[in-house]
Amino acid sequence: MKTNVSRKIVYVLGSALGLAGLAVFWPVLAACVSDEAIAPNCFWSCTCPSGFFVCHKVCPTPCICRNLECMRAYLKQLNEWADGYDALSHRLMKDVPLESYDLSAMSEGARDATIKKINAQYQSYQQGYQFIHDHLITGLGSACPQAGEFEATVTEGSCVLDRQKLNAAKEKAPCKEIGDAMEAHEQYHQAQCLTRMARNFRLPRNQYQPEITRPAIMLSQGGQAAEEARAHRIEAGVIKKALDSVTNKCMGR
Ligand SMILES: [Zn+2]
Repeated sequence: MKTNVSRKIVYVLGSALGLAGLAVFWPVLAACVSDEAIAPNCFWSCTCPSGFFVCHKVCPTPCICRNLECMRAYLKQLNEWADGYDALSHRLMKDVPLESYDLSAMSEGARDATIKKINAQYQSYQQGYQFIHDHLITGLGSACPQAGEFEATVTEGSCVLDRQKLNAAKEKAPCKEIGDAMEAHEQYHQAQCLTRMARNFRLPRNQYQPEITRPAIMLSQGGQAAEEARAHRIEAGVIKKALDSVTNKCMGR
């Protein structure tokens, strides 16, 4: 009897503690799942240092006169990336002339040859990227001390946008419109990826791999460079608009 009472007390206390814990952490957990749970200007930036998500709310402030130098430097850099990617795309497309290929519309021989040709350009793409990075891009200077670390990705094949990485990058942006520009860049990649994913295709088994289901449309390396150029121009467009507006406000000061 005494044991039963003790057990009940333990259950009640345990449940109460569990509920209290849930009440405290639920807003954070829920927010990490849904960005819409908070004000439109804010987002959650989360890291996962030891298996648990640690999130904090970020509400960026709009760009102001103080951010002009950074915005100009960032815009210049985006245009340099776009030009570099365009040049890389032209070079790669000399050997593989289309931006994307519909694998489902090809004979087996043509399909294997196309996949092989696209994959063979992987190293050239990586080297081209490194060349742009090392030789063609101007530094952002002290006006954007952390901006060089901006980075986010969309995974080809699943089209998942790495929200954790994107929000971490947006958090480093010195003001809101720069973060908005990054968002526009990644949203464009995701939309393009989803278009390619719209139709699936069963790639039959061959000597190299088992049967797999994959998007019918395969992006070439040149197509990937062209998409990067367009994504950087979209991002540049968002910055340019904000830059013009902030410049107007700051004139005469
Ligand atoms: Zn990109």
